[in-house]
Amino acid sequence: MIMTDLQAILDGIYTELKPRIGEGRVADYIPDLAKVDPNQFGLTVTTVDGKIYSVGDSAVPFSIQSISKVFMLTLALGKVGEQLWKRVGREPSGSAFNSIVQLEQESGIPRNPFINAGAIAVTDVVISGHAPREAIGELLRFVRYLSDDDGVTIDGRVAKSETHTGFRNVALANFMKAYGNLEHPVEHVLGVYFHQCALSMTCEQLAKAGLFLAARGSNPVAGLSVVSPKRARRINALMLTCGHYDGSGDFAYHVGLPGKSGVGGGIFAVAPGIASMAVWSPGLNKVGNSQLGAVALEMLAARTGWSVFGD
Ligand code: GLU
Repeated sequence: MIMTDLQAILDGIYTELKPRIGEGRVADYIPDLAKVDPNQFGLTVTTVDGKIYSVGDSAVPFSIQSISKVFMLTLALGKVGEQLWKRVGREPSGSAFNSIVQLEQESGIPRNPFINAGAIAVTDVVISGHAPREAIGELLRFVRYLSDDDGVTIDGRVAKSETHTGFRNVALANFMKAYGNLEHPVEHVLGVYFHQCALSMTCEQLAKAGLFLAARGSNPVAGLSVVSPKRARRINALMLTCGHYDGSGDFAYHVGLPGKSGVGGGIFAVAPGIASMAVWSPGLNKVGNSQLGAVALEMLAARTGWSVFGD
C-alpha cells in the first residue's frame, strides 16, 4: 500500500462517518465520563516507519480507561515474566468486563489480564516493591517515554470519580484478596488501578505509545527495544482473544486485528509489522466498546487489507 493513500483512506472514513458521530451511549457508571460530549471522533494511524496520519479530534485527550491495561501488562511481564500466569489466566471470559461470576468458579484467579479482575491482579504485581504513588509514576513515565510526549497526564477528577463509585471493582478486589490473590491492601491496589484507568491521552499519543506492538517489540523511530519480539506477539495474542470483553469474537470477526478498548470510547489496535492505530468516539455499544470506533476500524481494515487472518 502506498502510504500517501492512507491519509486519503482516513479522510474518506471520516467523511462517511461524520453524520453518525454521536451514536452509542457514553459510559455513565463513572460520573465524570458521563459528562463527556459524545459528538467527538478522532483516528490516528502510526506506521512502523514513523509516519503519522490523523483525522478528526485526534489531538483531544480522552480517558483511555481499560486500554491502560495493555501498558500495565507490559510492565508486569517485564517485572515477573511468565510467573504472572500463576495469578491470572489467558482465556477469553465471555462475561462482562466487570463480572464476578468466574472468580468464584476459578478460585480467585481471573480469566485474563484485560477484564477488570485480571487487571487489578496485574496492578498488584506492578505495585510490588513500590509505594502505590511510585507505581503510578512508573506507569506515567513509561507511557510518556513510549509516546515520546510529556504531555500525557492522569485526570485526577476521573480517578476520584471512580474511587467514589467503583463498588464493583472493590468487590472484585476483596474477592481476590479472600482467595489470597492480592498481595497488597485492597485500597492501595485500587488506588493505582483507578489512576491508571484515568490516564488521559490523545489518539496520536496512544497510537505512538503502542507502536512497539506493531514493530516486533521495538520503538522503530527511536530504535529502542521495549519488549522482545516474542513478548510483543503474545501481548497481541491476548488483545486479539480478550481485548474487547465479551465482544472480542465480534471484533476479531469484523476488524481482524488485535485491539484493546476502554469505556472512555477509545480503541487501540495493531496491524503487526505495519502500523498501530487509535480511534476515539465516546458513544459505546451494548458490550461497552466504542460503537463508531469499531465501525471505523472495520472500514480501515477493509480498505487497507490489514488483517492477521490473511489477505
Ligand atoms: N475504570 C473502568 C472500570 O474499572 C475500566 C473499564 C473499562 O474501560 O473497561 O470499570
